[in-house]
Amino acid sequence: MRVLLVEDDPMIGQAMHDALKDAAYAVDWLRNGQTALETLALQHYDLVLLDLGLPGRDGREVLGVLRARADAVPLLVVTARDALDDRLQGLDGGADDYLVKPFEMAELLARMRAVLRRKGGSAAPLLGNGVLALDPATHEASVEGATPVRLSQREFALLQALLLRPGAILSRAELEDRIYGFGDEVESNAVEYLIHALRRKLGSDAIRNVRGVGWMVSKAG
Ligand code: CA
Repeated sequence: MRVLLVEDDPMIGQAMHDALKDAAYAVDWLRNGQTALETLALQHYDLVLLDLGLPGRDGREVLGVLRARADAVPLLVVTARDALDDRLQGLDGGADDYLVKPFEMAELLARMRAVLRRKGGSAAPLLGNGVLALDPATHEASVEGATPVRLSQREFALLQALLLRPGAILSRAELEDRIYGFGDEVESNAVEYLIHALRRKLGSDAIRNVRGVGWMVSKAG
């Protein structure tokens, strides 16, 4: 799952960046509102974390431009301004939630999961396809109700990408895009290696390979 972090404060940005990476998100960190808009026009993100006070364009303008061009990317405003009207403006302007600084990283991650769940159209905290279940909070996966197994960060990121679209074939490039941020070194065969590791943990039928095209998990029902 790929996240764009837009935050110009170096300490807050670094702390958020590290917490997101620890939680297995592929994260790109930008510090300028204009750059963020340009990047969002080119690169798919699953979620945006947006500071309001930014150089280039401020966060409110970024949000306005995004929604005006019908970009519905899930977006969480992270703001130091805790005035009530600012918060309401953020939500009226198309933000899905807001978080007031300072905040605990655990709360940030929980709010992100909640936004992703709501935008995904499901209230269930688990991702699944009827066979596999994946818990985004604990990074544990199970097969047909068997004892959950713990996944590594990248195993989790890969399985999450597949389970967000059961029945869809994702190519190697699409999977790498969900697992790695800008500047992350992509090891060759990383996707094959992760698929192999997931099959060892979850059984060889858990993930199907469609030769020459990509990988998929079956659709429920
Ligand atoms: Ca700022």
